[in-house]
Amino acid sequence: VRIGIDFDNTIICYDQVFCELAIDWQLVPSDFNGTKQQLRDQLQALPEGDTVWQKLQGKVYGEYIDRAMLFTGITEFLMVCRQLAIPVFIVSHKTEYGHFDEKRILLRDVSRQWLDQQGFFRDPSPLVNTEHVFFEPTREDKIARIKHLQCTHFIDDLIEVLGSPLFPTTIQRILFKPLANASMPESNVNEAHALQVFSSWKDIRNALFNSN
Ligand SMILES: [Mg+2]
Repeated sequence: VRIGIDFDNTIICYDQVFCELAIDWQLVPSDFNGTKQQLRDQLQALPEGDTVWQKLQGKVYGEYIDRAMLFTGITEFLMVCRQLAIPVFIVSHKTEYGHFDEKRILLRDVSRQWLDQQGFFRDPSPLVNTEHVFFEPTREDKIARIKHLQCTHFIDDLIEVLGSPLFPTTIQRILFKPLANASMPESNVNEAHALQVFSSWKDIRNALFNSN
């Protein structure tokens, strides 16, 4: 077993940061409290909405990354992997700079720093080896990296990645959908893409390791 995990919106949760910044920029009312997707839909309905959204993303993934949070249960998941000596890789599609970011913040560097601040790389028993973190310039490069690392499982929040025709079907594909409808069964198989869907890291842990 070799587990690969996406970074943005799979390990790191930016939902709150998106809301705070959108309110600061007066793009939404001050009581707005939607998900990233709801915000995206709302902004994209505006004139120049796409550009505004990309500017916001550039800031959230860079300058304001320190406000982001770990998804609940990821640490426990990684602790089980460590205990079982299962190699874990983080593979992320990330450009060097954020869109329209005049401060030219290096997104990959701040992402690594953020992981370090969460204690992921702490010696003597890191949750993830620092050499197991990969940032790739395109989605194609990301998929090639996942193949090269011979991952047996890959966990990602984007169906565009897992459902890509380039993605090897021999890899167990797990879609992380954190705000999925509560009425959805704990484990759900998406027939069209032959992938498993889970709404929490606890559910993924239970499914993979049958541990509570
Ligand atoms: Mg992602």
